[in-house]
Amino acid sequence: MTSNALNFESLKTSGISPEDAREIFAMSEAEFFEKILPLAKTLREHAFANEISFCSIVNAKSGACVESCSFCAQSNTYKGAQAPVYPLMSAEKILEKAKEAESFGATEFSIVTSGRGMSKAKEIDTMVDAITKIRQETQVETCASLGLMSREDLQRLKEAGMINYHHNIETSRSYFPNIVTSHTWEEEVATVTNAKELGFQVCCGGIFGMGESVEQRVEFVFQLKDIDPDSIPINFLNPRPGTPLADKHDLTPLDCLKIIAVLRLAMPRKELFVCGGREVNMKGYQELMFDAGASGTMLGNYLTTEGRSPEQDLALIRKNGLVPVSPHRKTKGASHGTQEAAKETC
Ligand code: SF4
Repeated sequence: MTSNALNFESLKTSGISPEDAREIFAMSEAEFFEKILPLAKTLREHAFANEISFCSIVNAKSGACVESCSFCAQSNTYKGAQAPVYPLMSAEKILEKAKEAESFGATEFSIVTSGRGMSKAKEIDTMVDAITKIRQETQVETCASLGLMSREDLQRLKEAGMINYHHNIETSRSYFPNIVTSHTWEEEVATVTNAKELGFQVCCGGIFGMGESVEQRVEFVFQLKDIDPDSIPINFLNPRPGTPLADKHDLTPLDCLKIIAVLRLAMPRKELFVCGGREVNMKGYQELMFDAGASGTMLGNYLTTEGRSPEQDLALIRKNGLVPVSPHRKTKGASHGTQEAAKETC
């Protein structure tokens, strides 16, 4: 199929091919706005009507990570990076953050920690306690992003009532060794697979703009499609001082719109959350992210960078005639609905 033949009826169930994605990435701005943006918006509306979901995160443990992810200010490897360093928050503190997120309008709350994974039993105990308290005292859905995890530890979180597990695979398999050398892409995918097999709703995406080629963007989109997560957090690199990617500024606002639209056209019924890096990379085009196919976004700050105010995002939603909903809405034929709580890391 060529871009001239792309239409709603042909796309609404199975989506575009890698060849179509290549064509879209090569389009001029005028052609993209004429042919693709309206299609992406129609597909998003078909799956989600006028509903947009919001999630929010807390960085419950920051910095001092032994891994070497090139984009991450929390890695110990990059001495010039400036992320704060603190141990895992108490369950009470995490609960307080969940209540704050709920008061801003978030319907999903994700607990994110730095590090390869959560190996200490005491940390898992704190997480179980936090999830139990959040379920008792708020209405927000709980999610966690705790790095590479064993089935046994994931099972404990499941038994505590956690519904979602977030784990990004960062980038395409072929580009991954350029970004991370301390663990493998296959280890990332294994964590996602474990979470899926245990019955979690799985949120899995990554970061664009880290130096990958257009072909590797296409590869990444279709690898995500194969993994088949319930929701996909999309991050655009916001280069962190002191990291190897500190000077990487690869994305234009149009590139970002194309990435969102290609993901929407490739996976017409998936939740797509636009998360970290949207402010700095999309600039004025941020207002078009829902037209390009995003069905959700993050409220408030990201892990190591600040986001727009919740009021600004809620105003954008209202201006476009959209309404905020739970990420776990049921869509016609879709297993779920959830970004990041997509995160920009782990
Ligand atoms: S992304 Fe996660 S695992 Fe990688 S360096 Fe940052 S905190 Fe560590």
